[in-house]
Amino acid sequence: MDSNPGDTKLNPGALDVPPPPVRSAMDRASPPDTAEQLQDQWTRIRSRLQQDVGDVEYRTWLRQMTLGNVDGDEVAVHLPSRFLRDWVRGHYADKLNALWQSENKRIRRVDIRVGGAGASADASLAERDGSALPGDADTPDMPMADQMAPSSDPTRPEMAAPLDTRFEFDSFVVGKPNEFAYACARRVAERPSSPGFNPLFLYGGVGLGKTHLMHAIGIELSRRDAAPIQVAYMSAEKFMYRFIAAIRSQSTMEFKEQLRSVDVLMVDDLQFLIGKDNTQEEFFHTFNALVDAGKQIVVSADKSPSDLSGLEDRLRTRLGCGMVADLHATTFELRISILEAKALRAEAQVPPKVLEFLAHKITSNVRELEGSLNRLIAHANLFGRPITLESTQEVLHDILKAHDRRITIEEIQKRVAEHWNIRLADMSSARRARAVARPRQVAMYLAKQLTSRSLPEIGRKFGNRDHTTVMHAVSRIAELVEQDADFGERVELLRRMLES
Ligand code: ADP
Ligand code: MG
Repeated sequence: MDSNPGDTKLNPGALDVPPPPVRSAMDRASPPDTAEQLQDQWTRIRSRLQQDVGDVEYRTWLRQMTLGNVDGDEVAVHLPSRFLRDWVRGHYADKLNALWQSENKRIRRVDIRVGGAGASADASLAERDGSALPGDADTPDMPMADQMAPSSDPTRPEMAAPLDTRFEFDSFVVGKPNEFAYACARRVAERPSSPGFNPLFLYGGVGLGKTHLMHAIGIELSRRDAAPIQVAYMSAEKFMYRFIAAIRSQSTMEFKEQLRSVDVLMVDDLQFLIGKDNTQEEFFHTFNALVDAGKQIVVSADKSPSDLSGLEDRLRTRLGCGMVADLHATTFELRISILEAKALRAEAQVPPKVLEFLAHKITSNVRELEGSLNRLIAHANLFGRPITLESTQEVLHDILKAHDRRITIEEIQKRVAEHWNIRLADMSSARRARAVARPRQVAMYLAKQLTSRSLPEIGRKFGNRDHTTVMHAVSRIAELVEQDADFGERVELLRRMLES
């Protein structure tokens, strides 16, 4: 069960996407996926993409994708215009491919094309509560084979997701912002269910290491040669799918029993349960049953228990009863250490100057930092060239630009006014004719997306308008962009001009 050095080898095709889980021979022989299963896979792919690329990028380029037909080993993904299709092909094809393969081993090719009229079935299932889900969700949506242990491992409950062996304690770089969370996770892995550490609640922003630490706990526990410990790790989303599947197949008792038979239950991204009342209720009961039986619970979320409004009070109270540890935003020093560790693991020669440059530029989250470094290394390997500051700037051109941009509202107003041939003064005037009102709304929309200004601040710059006017403009334009591909392209064009 030692970590396999091959795990950390870079696969240029996959970049920062985790490698597809291993499937057993049985999976290959199983019948083709039903429409519902494919739709579920698609929903998960979309939400992973959104996590990977961030909200803004996702909303700009990917939100309008819909699922087309599956033909043999090829799946079609539709976009409403050629412009978007080309963009997605040029920028996300590898990612889509890798994500599809990790969800569905049968898929070998993703065909990105124009089309998808009436693709309303694409509504995000994940956004609805269980009761609204279509049937048939009870077939496994993820391969059960474990990457870490043979699938016959009796200590792995059937319903748990595989643990990713890259996410062990040894590969987690510790610094001021995460040392407390790390220490708590270590402690739980050493002595699960100790008083004061149950539940362990890890929280923090996207890409700061919550999932990594949870996997690390699971890996550590399953490596112990003392009495085998049953560890189940799953995302809150998966918990919900499993629960719904159990209801559909009238096997809720089995579901409950399975869950309650584990020694350690880890549920990731609990914020997903907000608004899903039935699933929350079920989780609450599972939680209580396990804690009362002296079992360990580890939970992660993007906010602290007290800030997770939308979760039931009694659940929030219980979540906060054990140890609550937050992962703070990274510091420059931590980012440098992480980059050094990752470069070393990948056996890549990256000059310190380049590492410093990256740590300065990419501050938002570790996933992005890691993704950038991976891209650099993959590029260098592909072309057999050393990594330099120049090549870094070239290869990471798009990422760096996104982190660099300091677009002003004035610039946006000017560009938009030029584009529609109206007077700049009309951006702040009281005129309400559509010919000026619509461009003004577009400018507000872009201001919201491209600057960090608040709605009231934006309102003030547009002739002292109220923040509700800005809010209305933003949602109206978002709607139009969705409905009218031509209009959408114009707005994209403007955005790209502003960003370049
Ligand atoms: P979260 O679950 O908080 O969104 P993840 O645990 O998925 O974040 O982390 C995102 C990526 O960044 C993963 O590849 C993870 O290995 C890496 N990562 C985050 N923090 C660290 C760290 N301190 N040391 C090493 N890698 C880290
Ligand atoms: Mg996570």
